[in-house]
Amino acid sequence: MSDIHGPKETKAVVHFCPQCGSASVSGSTKEVIVPEGMVRCAACGWAGTRGMLASLEFGHEFASEEDIAKTLMRDLRGLIASDAGSVFAKFLLKWGFLVQPADSKLLARYLAAIARETLGAIIKERAKIDKERVEHGRTRN
Ligand SMILES: [Zn+2]
Repeated sequence: MSDIHGPKETKAVVHFCPQCGSASVSGSTKEVIVPEGMVRCAACGWAGTRGMLASLEFGHEFASEEDIAKTLMRDLRGLIASDAGSVFAKFLLKWGFLVQPADSKLLARYLAAIARETLGAIIKERAKIDKERVEHGRTRN
C-alpha cells in the first residue's frame, strides 16, 4: 500500500492481544466466539474485554474488511497472472494439466485457483506463526 491517502480514507483500528501481541483477536474469525462483550485470542487463548486489547489505528481507503480481502485477492491474482503466469503455464504443460496450444481460459482458471489456495495457505501459515511465537515466548519466560 502507498503512503499517499486520498479523500476516501477511513480510519480503522486493528486490535492485538495484550498477552502475546497476535492480531487474531478481532471478532471476524470463527475461532473467536466468546460470551457477549468478550474477546479471545486465537493464538494464546487469552480472554478479556475489548477495552483490554492493545490497538493500532491506521488509515486506509477500503470500504470494509470484505473490500480489503477482495483487494488482497485481486492483487495476488494479478501478480500470479503477470509475474508467475508463464512459470505456472510451463509446469501445467510439463505435467499434462494443459496441452499445446494452451487454452487461455483453462490457464486463467488454474491461475485463479492457485491464487485462491495460495492466499488461504498464507493466512493459515500466519496463524501457525502467531501460535509458535506465543509458545516460544512461554518457554523463555
Ligand atoms: Zn494472545
